[in-house]
Amino acid sequence: MIVCEKCFCDTEIISVIRNKEDIGNCPMCKSKNVHIYDTDKYEDLSIMFDELISIYTPITQLLNSYPKSDTRLLKSELIKNWNIFNRKSEADVYNIITEICKEKYEYNAELFDQPIGIQELYEQDYLAKHSLLTTNSWEDFVDALKTKNRFHTHYINLELLERFCSYIRKPYKAGECFYRCRISTEEGIPMDKMGAPPIEYTTDGRANAKGIRCLYLGDSAETTIYETRAGAYDFVTVGKFKLKKDIIVVDLKRINQISPFIEELDCLEYAINKEHLNKINNEMGRIMRRSDSALDYIPTQYITDFVKSITHNEVAEYAGIEYKSVMHENGYNLAIFNPELFECIDTKIYKIDMIDYRKHVM
Ligand SMILES: [Zn+2]
Repeated sequence: MIVCEKCFCDTEIISVIRNKEDIGNCPMCKSKNVHIYDTDKYEDLSIMFDELISIYTPITQLLNSYPKSDTRLLKSELIKNWNIFNRKSEADVYNIITEICKEKYEYNAELFDQPIGIQELYEQDYLAKHSLLTTNSWEDFVDALKTKNRFHTHYINLELLERFCSYIRKPYKAGECFYRCRISTEEGIPMDKMGAPPIEYTTDGRANAKGIRCLYLGDSAETTIYETRAGAYDFVTVGKFKLKKDIIVVDLKRINQISPFIEELDCLEYAINKEHLNKINNEMGRIMRRSDSALDYIPTQYITDFVKSITHNEVAEYAGIEYKSVMHENGYNLAIFNPELFECIDTKIYKIDMIDYRKHVM
């Protein structure tokens, strides 16, 4: 069977296909003049998928205590839980996967044709060692931080969190620009006042506790204007900020999209943590309301402070975190730990003409 780079969205798989340097047309997705991969000719993808699929157990071999409601077919699991295929049809995914793993299919068809589950998801001993939240749920962790022990919780495995962060590093080069918006007057705000507030004016935010300075930036002027939630007829000043030196941030937007095929990654460990990683991602992107309390920021402040504490050769490894904008689709934000890493090089004043309120009856 011929598949192509466009049939997949996993970066590791795309790079394997590109390295083959076979160009042609793809009968599966109909892309023309693309890098193709012949499953009869090569074995690379079989080896990669065999490892991923081997974390699953067919329903007939799962322990009786395993909840049957938590099993599903491999083709649905691959689409729902893993960001590997560009094909959304279960039939396409089934056909591709049984061709790539044809040897495995010959002696273990049950894995592909019967509901499957991950036995370790329900093994307390395994979870205690390999789950980000040991045997707790995300809700237990949040509750413990808010009401039991804020700074020294044992509900999270920080060594594991550090490892997951290392898979989502994102470098930025000196000279790259980001934006920051503040509500202002018609006269605007001078450039030297556009940065992070001084310590005495800091308030609790998604990535900083009151008293800790943090520079919040957005990928575009538009994202930052949305994030500011200015009202109609308000004036806002948008500052353009230039990065002074090369940095690395943790791209939390991708925390649940790490490729399972990264060489040093343990697929099983990653799979059992997917649910927790999704929760971290959702928490970073959660919409805050005026009525929410400062306590609601504590889980993300905890994770941010931990990222800030990671060092390599006694030097801080990460300069900030990146997360999706909840106010502006496809936009993203950066929280930079040391505000001095950026300088404001330009400002523009805007007047908000209209706000498009969308609502629904509860
Ligand atoms: Zn294709």
